[in-house]
Amino acid sequence: MKHIVDLAKNRGFVFQGSEIYGGLANTWDYGPLGSLLKENLKNLWIREFVQRRPDMVLLDAAILMNPQVWVASGHVGGFSDPLVDCKSCKQRFRADKIIDGLIENHLKDDSSDSYYATRARELWVETLSYDERKNDLLNKQLPIYWINVNNLISESWSAEMQVKFLEEFEVLKEERGVPCPNCGECNWAEIKKFNLMFKTSQGVTEDSSAMVYLRPETAQGIFVDFPNIVRTCRRRIPFGVAQVGKAFRNEITPGNFIFRTREFEQMEIEYFCEPGTDLELHAKWKKDCMNFLQNTLSLNSENLRFRDHDADELSFYSNATTDIEYKFPFGWWELWGIADRTDFDLKAHMTESKQDMSYFDPVKNTKFIPYVIEPSIGLTRLFLATLCDAYDTVPDGEEGGERIVLRLKPEVAPVKIAVLPLVKKLNEKAEEVFHMLSKHFMTWYDETGSIGKRYARFDEIGTPWCVTIDFDNTLEKNMVTIRHRDTAEQETVAIEALVEYFQTALNS
Ligand code: ATP
Repeated sequence: MKHIVDLAKNRGFVFQGSEIYGGLANTWDYGPLGSLLKENLKNLWIREFVQRRPDMVLLDAAILMNPQVWVASGHVGGFSDPLVDCKSCKQRFRADKIIDGLIENHLKDDSSDSYYATRARELWVETLSYDERKNDLLNKQLPIYWINVNNLISESWSAEMQVKFLEEFEVLKEERGVPCPNCGECNWAEIKKFNLMFKTSQGVTEDSSAMVYLRPETAQGIFVDFPNIVRTCRRRIPFGVAQVGKAFRNEITPGNFIFRTREFEQMEIEYFCEPGTDLELHAKWKKDCMNFLQNTLSLNSENLRFRDHDADELSFYSNATTDIEYKFPFGWWELWGIADRTDFDLKAHMTESKQDMSYFDPVKNTKFIPYVIEPSIGLTRLFLATLCDAYDTVPDGEEGGERIVLRLKPEVAPVKIAVLPLVKKLNEKAEEVFHMLSKHFMTWYDETGSIGKRYARFDEIGTPWCVTIDFDNTLEKNMVTIRHRDTAEQETVAIEALVEYFQTALNS
């Protein structure tokens, strides 16, 4: 992970936010390369799920919404984490994370039969399916009494599990004394529920009537606009609405670089369908989402897996939920959630807003509230998965050194082509080639440093092709040399054929 963070920071993919002022915790800026990469991921997603499908449309709803939206969606009442203060050192923690930490520490000793180790093993059995436990043991060749602490994290727990856990924490605090991870004292305040929504105020006054939330997900904009879309877009059910945009969650424990941040971007779809057809469509969306990752983005299939939620993990309104997990350097974690949310959201908005959210089927002459399948992925989390997946090194020099090659698919790569005059004197011709190519492709121009160093620099940022301008081929024959990132092979191509060459390569 350190290598990936270093590359991202040093090459202009991701910078620490407000760095010159010492930064602002957990904020990140997407630099010149990062913003291009993020844009490419977004555009490929829109091309696949909107442009190429007659049953999908795009939406861009406002970030600030009427606060009633969040009452209806359940976020005002239920979107919270358990927070506990240490009265001695005044540090704040997520209550569930403290127990995770205790369990992890006790498990450092394999044979531990301490209370926490025993409880950890019990939880492992309760929270993971048989197959997941088996994979856990096989993958890591762990003895049966050892567990993958990553899989214990409370994020993946059902609401019931969380309640059980908090009850347990209360008992543990009294009976066994849970030491504060910071100061070691057992001096806890009551656990409070901490709502993850950011609040701000709209307009010139700061009283509560002007209070608004920054949206914690993009999805609600789609539900709220459902009647407008039906009225204006002439789509018949089943059809879906896609949206890309910022979301904000005041996460208590953000971290792992850009994996979990307080400000992030989501790409969400609500696919509206007739009740009864939902499970079949859920299965289809699982396939389509995995296809996007494995084929469109060419992520390594060994780093991807489905995790179907067990019945006791499902929200009460969901008929089925599956996560696509990615094997990050810090473990398997959710990348994409695909949930069958039935008619929960539209019904909730119908009740709260008193507006009719039902759909009239003109063919069957029936009216109903549609069910919905929601494939929801974090664009910034996908960005991290893409970087991790593409990161590779090759031997460099004779002393066992190595250098980085970012093996991004050309469509994903931020810069597609680098135009490199062999020597500065060739700049006039090289600039001509640059202007010709940059009309069609993101092209960079670089005339400084040895040609080998320049190739290495562009390999490191994932540029699939370098175009070299030299005396013999270019000035004499009007040809250039194309060097390929992944093979380092070179070929000579006529300047007039270049645009078509790259267009074909990018569409293949
Ligand atoms: P997690 O369990 O990781 O907190 P979640 O189950 O709360 O995620 P959803 O509400 O289903 O996430 O959001 C859909 C997607 O949005 C997730 O699969 C993830 O890719 C992304 N996402 C959610 N929270 C964050 C965050 N704080 N930072 C970056 N991406 C996020």
